[in-house]
Amino acid sequence: MTKDLFDQRACSNGGCDSPSMPLSEPPLCREHIPDLEIWYEAALVDLRAANQLDAPPIGQGFVHDMYRYALVSKGLPRILYEEFEEREKAGREIAFSFADIIFFIVKAAAAGVIGSLSYDGLKRVIRKVVGSKEARNEALEHLPKVVSEQRYIELAERFQNEVAVETEESIEIRLRRSYRLVMRVDTSEEKANT
Ligand SMILES: [Zn+2]
Repeated sequence: MTKDLFDQRACSNGGCDSPSMPLSEPPLCREHIPDLEIWYEAALVDLRAANQLDAPPIGQGFVHDMYRYALVSKGLPRILYEEFEEREKAGREIAFSFADIIFFIVKAAAAGVIGSLSYDGLKRVIRKVVGSKEARNEALEHLPKVVSEQRYIELAERFQNEVAVETEESIEIRLRRSYRLVMRVDTSEEKANT
């Protein structure tokens, strides 16, 4: 079945009337999509198949934007993102659009809290996941701006009922995938560099 790229349907989750994410099948809004990574990868495949990757209004840029904002649309990531946004916006009246790395850091910090990682453990995982030395330094520079160690510990206490103890390695594997998708790392490029 071909999906209509421009079909704007309502979310099919019972009782929800939010607009669905583009190319979601069944149509689901960002709150109800069970796995955003799967949705995003499938959407890129659909766009590529329809030869619409670089065709606005719904090209890969649009879908990527939907993906990164959906990542921070609920739960702990939303708290982290909104706190960061508020500090960045304080007293300024200009439109903001944050770099992709900010969305990755929010995602990583939330995964760290829920996965019961220490702040140092989170830094260790970020160091392993982020490819180049330059990008690694940038990511570690952004981390305390997104969430300080003190705030991280507070959130770990607040979310202790949702915590699932995970190994550092399993968090690392998941974040590798998020990093590749959020930062739009071309896997062929990645392979060529390793
Ligand atoms: Zn919904």
